[in-house]
Amino acid sequence: MAPKKAKTVAVVGAGLVGTLEACMMAKRGYEVHLYEYRQDIRQMEHVPGRSINLAMSVRGRTGLGAVGVEEQIVQRHGIAMKARMIHSLDGTTKSIPYNREGKCIFSVGRRFVNEVLLTRAEDFPNVTIHFNHKLEACDLERGEMTFTNTATGERVSTRADLMIGCDGAYSNVRKQMLKRAHFNYKQEYIPHGYMELCIPATPDGEFAMPPNYLHIWPRGNYMMIALPNQDRSWTVTLFMPFEIFGTLTTPEELLSFFQTNYPDAIPLIGREKLINDFFSNKPSANDISQVLAIPRGQHQRHHGRCRPRHGAILRTGDELRHGGLCSSE
Ligand SMILES: Cc1cc2nc3c(=O)[nH]c(=O)nc-3n(C[C@H](O)[C@H](O)[C@H](O)COP(=O)(O)OP(=O)(O)OC[C@H]3O[C@@H](n4cnc5c(N)ncnc54)[C@H](O)[C@@H]3O)c2cc1C
Repeated sequence: MAPKKAKTVAVVGAGLVGTLEACMMAKRGYEVHLYEYRQDIRQMEHVPGRSINLAMSVRGRTGLGAVGVEEQIVQRHGIAMKARMIHSLDGTTKSIPYNREGKCIFSVGRRFVNEVLLTRAEDFPNVTIHFNHKLEACDLERGEMTFTNTATGERVSTRADLMIGCDGAYSNVRKQMLKRAHFNYKQEYIPHGYMELCIPATPDGEFAMPPNYLHIWPRGNYMMIALPNQDRSWTVTLFMPFEIFGTLTTPEELLSFFQTNYPDAIPLIGREKLINDFFSNKPSANDISQVLAIPRGQHQRHHGRCRPRHGAILRTGDELRHGGLCSSE
């Protein structure tokens, strides 16, 4: 008797979640195809996109541990953040530990994590990665997908027993689901946006602030945070209502705003750098979206409970989080 053919799983999106998902499915013995819109980021000099680093807690570490890369990412690359460092208006600081026993979170490079997971996925003989493949459409009942190969312009049609949507917050998989009757969905933008700035390393190549902390400047309706990077710079994220971003139209207004709210951050970022970075950037929006109802027969499964079968669909990562279905990713 011929050996039973492994069921096929298509993972759409090779970001942080899709790469991990591909490894997990490969471990279970499925034939996995991982489709990614972008080219291979390991070959790119600069990867455009959001935040350089991530704060990783035990949940993320558990996922990495399950596919054998926790040590490489966390112990050998991560920067321990043992406490929050609160910056008051008068420039004084106060530390609030995350845990009495010294347990902590880690600052890790987003690109590094993604690259390690891509390489780990490639180690599995039953994983094939298809870069430059943009999902255009899918038939959720039949498990059929159409991609554009962005390198050649060619259309590629394929099918799988299970399709996993890991294509991020503005997921095309979810857009396909929206076309179905009774799939109610709501998206709402919050008034706050965010902008990333940078505190560079000091001239002698050191951290400009104590490194083992997540630095926070809480200011009521807005705040700023900073996470350490491996090159000893800091990624600073300024969160505030778009209305306030809109009032900062000149270098004088910006400096006056910082002088009032974040005076100790001006010398750390540097006046010129602050002005240049702020005015060459645009604040990004934050949205909250929610799936309100899913039609019967959609074959939607939560992560952990799913078994591949014809035309089944699973959604995970930011695709799911923005879908608001559950928090089991
Ligand atoms: C500013 C900011 C700071 C953050 N900080 C933290 C933090 O400190 N800690 C933390 O845990 N989380 C943080 N997050 C959240 C975290 O980044 C996300 O939860 C995580 O990236 C989700 O991973 P994902 O794989 O679902 O989506 P993504 O990382 O967005 O990956 C989606 C992938 O799908 C691909 N894709 C998109 N469309 C298609 C298509 N049509 N066809 C094929 N492929 C496609 C994309 O190219 C991408 O590679 C932060 C988010 C932001 C915006």
